[in-house]
Amino acid sequence: MVTSNWAGNVRYSARAVHHPRSIAELQELVAGSERVRAVGTGHSFNRIADTEGDLVSVAGLPARIEIDEAQGCVTVGAGMRFGEVVGPLDAAGLALANMGSLPHISVAGACSTGTHGSGDANRVLGAYARAIEVVGADGALRTVRRGEPDFPGSVIALGALGVVTAVTLDVVPAFGVRQWVHEGLTDLDAVDAALSAAYSVSAFTHWAGAGFEQVWLKVRDGDPVPEPGWLGTTPADGPRHMVRGVDPRHCTPQRGEPGPWHARLPHFRLEFTPSTGDELQSEWFLPRELAGAGLRALDAVRETIAPVLQVCEVRSIAADDTWLSPAAGRDTVAFHFTWDDSPAVEPVVAAVDAALEPLGARPHWAKLSALAPAVVRERWPEFGRWAELVGRHDPAGTFRNAYLAALLD
Ligand SMILES: Cc1cc2nc3c(=O)[nH]c(=O)nc-3n(C[C@H](O)[C@H](O)[C@H](O)COP(=O)(O)OP(=O)(O)OC[C@H]3O[C@@H](n4cnc5c(N)ncnc54)[C@H](O)[C@@H]3O)c2cc1C
Repeated sequence: MVTSNWAGNVRYSARAVHHPRSIAELQELVAGSERVRAVGTGHSFNRIADTEGDLVSVAGLPARIEIDEAQGCVTVGAGMRFGEVVGPLDAAGLALANMGSLPHISVAGACSTGTHGSGDANRVLGAYARAIEVVGADGALRTVRRGEPDFPGSVIALGALGVVTAVTLDVVPAFGVRQWVHEGLTDLDAVDAALSAAYSVSAFTHWAGAGFEQVWLKVRDGDPVPEPGWLGTTPADGPRHMVRGVDPRHCTPQRGEPGPWHARLPHFRLEFTPSTGDELQSEWFLPRELAGAGLRALDAVRETIAPVLQVCEVRSIAADDTWLSPAAGRDTVAFHFTWDDSPAVEPVVAAVDAALEPLGARPHWAKLSALAPAVVRERWPEFGRWAELVGRHDPAGTFRNAYLAALLD
């Protein structure tokens, strides 16, 4: 029974939690409910998934993995975790182009919130969706496909358009990846170059010393491998966790050990707790060309940040044309923060909001930020179109919760 989110900082206010076993059961539930909200694996840090009505998980629907090699796609059950999808896909010689830092999250939950990994050429995960099947407020099941007018607002949709039952994702031929951790990137201005040095790159800092303590490089087989001494760094002499003092066996293999895409692109292994488990998270997105300006703005508040910070991660994301993507219309740099699970974090989040807001920051839909709804709306050029779409598909506000009301009303 789902009663709170993974981090434990949000206790859901739902009057009931449902686990339908069939699409028909789900349709009946949605059609008969005044207020309903889907929940995935509960890995969000704010009240995005909450409702005072009925909370519904689609994890109990019959599992679906339908691979269409000819069309280059796979249709999966929306409640499935990425970790359950990747094995059959890899066995078929296929891959997802990218993954987030953990395979524990549901496909629909990740797609709904603009979840992303890293890589100059890699888009957010929802931008690889080519169709969704969704139960709308009237209980009808419809399919929305790429190319249709509403599609760009229908995947990254914050749960506002209905309960997604299946997602069709683009796939590519399977590929191998080797991962290295380099230490001691002391020059903040070198981060931009570092992010472009491999297929997927993450730079980690505690904002307590000079520059970045670790840079994680995920290099596709066949791509050039950064040399030891690259950008003044040193290759780590053993496996690393990005958070000080945490066991690195929770992390995917490093030191250049060859492996398949799905065992290197996430930072964390499915069989272990991702990150530290005792934490809160925030993330802000800036235009990629403002990476340096963003780092300097954060450097200016480092003494506020450092005392409650477990680690800060910088990643890059390719632009896409979906309406609510964190990278909508612009190549993007992402500044992620894993905080201590403490009340002292709230004013620090406000300080980072204030530091990055003048640079055009967009907050992560599923993490902590107190940016005013009016500012948030203005940050997404197509927000008005999306709000119109929500109004058209859900005029009675069946999927509305307090989070959406603050954003839309
Ligand atoms: C340790 C950790 C690491 C993380 N790493 C990353 C990362 O690398 N990159 C990143 O961008 N984010 C990251 N996140 C955030 C995470 O990806 C998002 O919170 C994501 O939404 C989690 O998916 P979920 O299934 O848990 O969704 P939930 O938190 O359960 O739900 C999130 C939203 O999705 C909607 N939703 C869920 N299922 C459905 C459905 N079937 N139909 C319609 N709407 C639905 C909900 O209504 C809600 O609005 C991380 C979180 C944690 C805890």
